Amino acid sequence: SSTRQTREFQAETKQLLDLMVHSIYTNREIFLRELISNASDAIDKVRFESLTNHDLLEGDSDFEIFLIPDESSHTLTISDNGMGMTRDEVVENIGTIAKSGTKAFAAKLKDQSASPQELIGQFGVGFYSAFMVASKVTLVTRAPGQAKGVKWESVGDGTYTIEECDKEKRGTTIILTLNDEFHSPEQSEENFLNRYTLQNLVKKYSDYIRYPVKMNFVKEEKPRDAEGKIIEDAPATQTVEVRTLNSMTPLWTRNKNEIKPEEYHLFYKDLFHDWEDPLEVIHAKAEGTVEYTTLLFIPSRAPFDFYQPESAAGLRLYSKHVFIMDNCKDLLPEYLRFVRGLVDSPDFSLNISREILQHSRQLKLIGKNLEKSVLKTLENLLQKDRPKYEKFWHEFGRALKIGVYADRSSQDKLKDLLLFPSSQGADTLTTLTDYIKRMPEKQKVIYYATGKDYSAVERLPQMELLREKGIEVLYLFDRVDEFTIEALQEYNEKKFQSVSRGDLQLDEFDSPEAKKDTEAIYKENESLIKAVKEQLNGKISDVKISSRLKSSAVCLVSDNQGISLSMEQILSEMHQ
Ligand code: ADP
Ligand code: MG
Repeated sequence: SSTRQTREFQAETKQLLDLMVHSIYTNREIFLRELISNASDAIDKVRFESLTNHDLLEGDSDFEIFLIPDESSHTLTISDNGMGMTRDEVVENIGTIAKSGTKAFAAKLKDQSASPQELIGQFGVGFYSAFMVASKVTLVTRAPGQAKGVKWESVGDGTYTIEECDKEKRGTTIILTLNDEFHSPEQSEENFLNRYTLQNLVKKYSDYIRYPVKMNFVKEEKPRDAEGKIIEDAPATQTVEVRTLNSMTPLWTRNKNEIKPEEYHLFYKDLFHDWEDPLEVIHAKAEGTVEYTTLLFIPSRAPFDFYQPESAAGLRLYSKHVFIMDNCKDLLPEYLRFVRGLVDSPDFSLNISREILQHSRQLKLIGKNLEKSVLKTLENLLQKDRPKYEKFWHEFGRALKIGVYADRSSQDKLKDLLLFPSSQGADTLTTLTDYIKRMPEKQKVIYYATGKDYSAVERLPQMELLREKGIEVLYLFDRVDEFTIEALQEYNEKKFQSVSRGDLQLDEFDSPEAKKDTEAIYKENESLIKAVKEQLNGKISDVKISSRLKSSAVCLVSDNQGISLSMEQILSEMHQ
C-alpha cells in the first residue's frame, strides 16, 4: 500500500538497537564497512542473477557504490545500484532478526557473557551498526522490475516507518543523519563527513571490495594564465572530481610475498565476521591439471554455534575474481569444516548450480589438494608450534575426533593429529606417537580410562594398579573420545584397551609368585564367589578374583566384547 505505516521492531531487534545506540563506544567506524559490504553483496546478487535474466539490469551495468557526505544536512549517504529490496524484503531483512546468527547474538546479549564489542565483531550485525553513529537512518530502495520504491525510516527507538516512494535507479540508498559528535570539524578521526576520513576508512576496511566505491571531491581552483601561473585575483572555480577510493584488487590475486600479515588478518575478519585474527593463513596458487588460487584461514576460535548443524561452513567460490557462491561445502571434508576461506578458479563457470558443482571433476581435484594442504599445515603446527596447535585443538579438535569415527577413510590422515590427556599430568596432552614412545617394552596395549574429569578418572579403582606399575593411561573426558578410540581400534599395531574392560593383559608385569597368589585366593574363596554370583543373578555376567585392585574391595568391569560403562551411559542418554 502507498500509505505510511509505523511498525514495531521485533523484540530482539529492539534490544540490539538499544545496544548499538547506548553501549558501544569504540570502533564505531565499522558501520561504514558494514554498509559498504551490504552494498557489495547486493551488487553481487544482481550481477549474478542478471546472467540468466538480463532484464534485471534495466540497462545499468556500471556497478558502483557512492558515498555522499553533506555538510548542510549532516548526512552521509551510501548508495548502490545492487539488487534493492521489495517491500516484503525490507520488512523481512531490516525489521526483524531473521538470521540465526543474529538471533544467537541477541540471545548472547541477554546472558551478558561477552562484551558488546566482542559480540559485534563475532556476529557481524551489519545494518544495525548504522545506529552507532546516526540518530536517524533512512533507507530508500527499489528492486529491479518494480515500478515504485520503498522508504524505510527509523530513529532507533523501537519503531520504524515504511511507505511507498519514487526511486528512479535500481538499488538501495541509505541516508544516515549523523549524531552531532560524528560531524564536528574538530574531530578528524570520527568526523564521518570529512572526505579524507572516509577515504581512509574505505582503504582500511574495504579496499578489496570488487566494485568501485566512489566519492566526489570538490576542488576550488583559480584559473591559470598562458604560462601556467595562477591568476591570484580571478574568482575560484569549483570542479568536481569523482575518485574511486578502493583499489579493487582482490587480496588473493596479489603476490604472497608482498602481503603483510595484518592485511590477511583484516581481510579475514571482514569477510568472515570474526573479531580475532586467524590462527593460520594458507595462501596458495596451483597451475597444471587444475588452476586455482586459494586463501584459507584456520580461525582462532570456534564460532558459538560450531557444533550445531546450521552453523555456517564451507568456502566462497570465485571465478576469475568474480564471486559465485558462498558456503560451498563440497570442497573440504566435514571434519575440516572449521576452515574458512575462498577458492578462485577459472575452471568454475559463473552460472554453475550447487548440484552440478557437486559432480564437477575439477572441484574434486581442488578439494583433494585443499584437504592435503590444510592437514599439512596442521602437522607443521603440531611439530613446530605445540602451544598454538593445542589452542587449535582446544577449539576444533573435536571435529577431527568426530571425523575419525564418522569417516573411516580419514583415519590414517587424522590419527597422528589427535591429542589426549593422560595420567602424565592434568594439563598435558599427548599424541599417540609420543605415548607409544614412552611405553615400557613389555606393555602390549594402549590403556585408556574414561570419566567426567581428571580427578574422577584418577579415582577409578582400576587406575590403582596401573599407576603402581608406572603405566601411562590415556584419559578420555570428552564423550566423543571413546567413539574415536573405538573406531581406531589400534594405533601402530597396538590395540586400545579400556582399563574397565576385560583382562588388562598385565601378566607380563606380574611376578610368577603373584600369579600363584591369585589362583590360591580364588580357591580359598570359591564359595564366596558362588554366593555373590547367586545373589546378583542376572545383573552381572561373571565374578572374578582380580589383581587390578589395590585398596578398593570390588569394581564393576565390562567384558571385552561389551561396550564400556561410559559408552553405555552415552548411548542411553542419546536414546532418551
Ligand atoms: P548480513 O549482511 O550479514 O545479511 P545485515 O544486517 O548487514 O546482515 O543485512 C541484513 C539484510 O538486509 C541483508 O542480508 C540483505 O538482505 C539486506 N540488505 C542490507 N543492505 C542492503 C542493500 N544495500 N541492498 C540490498 N539489501 C540489503
Ligand atoms: Mg551485512
